[in-house]
Amino acid sequence: MNVPLIDLKAQYENIKIELNSRVLDILSSVNYIMGGQVESFEREFASYLDVKNAISVANGTDALVIAMKSLGIGEGDEVITTPYTFFSTAESISAVGATPVFADVDRDTFNIDVRKIEEKITKRTRAIIPVHIFGQPADMNEILNIARRNNLFVIEDACQAIGAEHYGKKVGTLGDIACFSFFPTKNLGCAGDGGMIVTNDDNIATIVKALRVHGSGENGEKAYNLLNHIEEPILQEKNNDNTIYNPLKYYNFIIGFNSRLDEIQAAILRVKLKSIDMWNEKRTKNAAFYSENIINKSIVKPVEVSHKKHVYHMYIIQSDYRDKLASYLKERNIATGIYYPVPVHLQKVYHNLGYKEGDMPVAEYLSRRTLAIPIYPELSVEQKLYIVNAINDFEVNKNNEK
Ligand SMILES: *Cc1c(COP(=O)(O)O)cnc(C)c1O
Repeated sequence: MNVPLIDLKAQYENIKIELNSRVLDILSSVNYIMGGQVESFEREFASYLDVKNAISVANGTDALVIAMKSLGIGEGDEVITTPYTFFSTAESISAVGATPVFADVDRDTFNIDVRKIEEKITKRTRAIIPVHIFGQPADMNEILNIARRNNLFVIEDACQAIGAEHYGKKVGTLGDIACFSFFPTKNLGCAGDGGMIVTNDDNIATIVKALRVHGSGENGEKAYNLLNHIEEPILQEKNNDNTIYNPLKYYNFIIGFNSRLDEIQAAILRVKLKSIDMWNEKRTKNAAFYSENIINKSIVKPVEVSHKKHVYHMYIIQSDYRDKLASYLKERNIATGIYYPVPVHLQKVYHNLGYKEGDMPVAEYLSRRTLAIPIYPELSVEQKLYIVNAINDFEVNKNNEK
């Protein structure tokens, strides 16, 4: 038997007919940028999360960069985040000219350890970016309390956690602003790159809308006024169609980006959004199956925390013999992945920040032990049993000797 870590082909086969016809519709419509699909997808996404504004962008990294820009974060500012994440979380902080400041993670959840945040706050700190890593919500109650006490923004990196819940509320609706990625391998992925920013704050939403299209047009002017605390009203223009020719497009008010989701991706995401709850449910069931049936004493299984709905972007096991376990499973045609082999504070590019080995002991410990096994929704019972049996048969000593 052969089990890939992620099987996008299996998902495509299930929705192929609808997906193909939607894509062809867009092709023949010749309406490729900022049309009805994007508008509808944004509305449907906002309603799925129960949030006021959803603004699509080109990818999850841009979502983080634009979110920070919309809050006025930049040069000289510090942003506290986790070292146990995809690089992009920290990279986006650097991209706006701010400095990432890392707080170590919790050993059970891989999420930022809320007891380590306050000691990192300085006069320059502007925001906290919790990452709902692997699909499990961070401890948002405490993070929001810390932010309130210290007058900081909270930007949720929800790229791995669409549909996850924290005390019954979907992640992405808890902080000031939140970011999602539709990279193909995420729980909700498109056929290329895509991202989304959500917020309940209408002013922040206006600035985000301006930033994604070069700071131009009516939103650009509104954003300029908001960012500069100008209260003058803006004259409304009737012509809102900016697809082919809109003169307002050529009036720029702030420095922004070209970061849009295109119509084809939006159409694909609209089809897939209908299935996200079902897919997440299947991931959760697969996780429950593993947690019940993996009984090898040398393996540490993921911990679920109460009042949090985990959507298992990844199912992460731990072993003292991680690399041996990975090659043992590979020999049996079971693919695995290491998330993440180098915690962000020890990445070479961040040498200048002055962190050294031992500064984030928990993140470093986990980075040597974690292994993701296949958890995708389309896994068959046979595949799951095959994986469970292989892991249960893994013998530390025998494999350690060879
Ligand atoms: C995927 C991911 C991102 C970046 O998303 P892209 O769409 O690949 O730019 C950011 N943060 C986390 C935690 C991610 O998993």
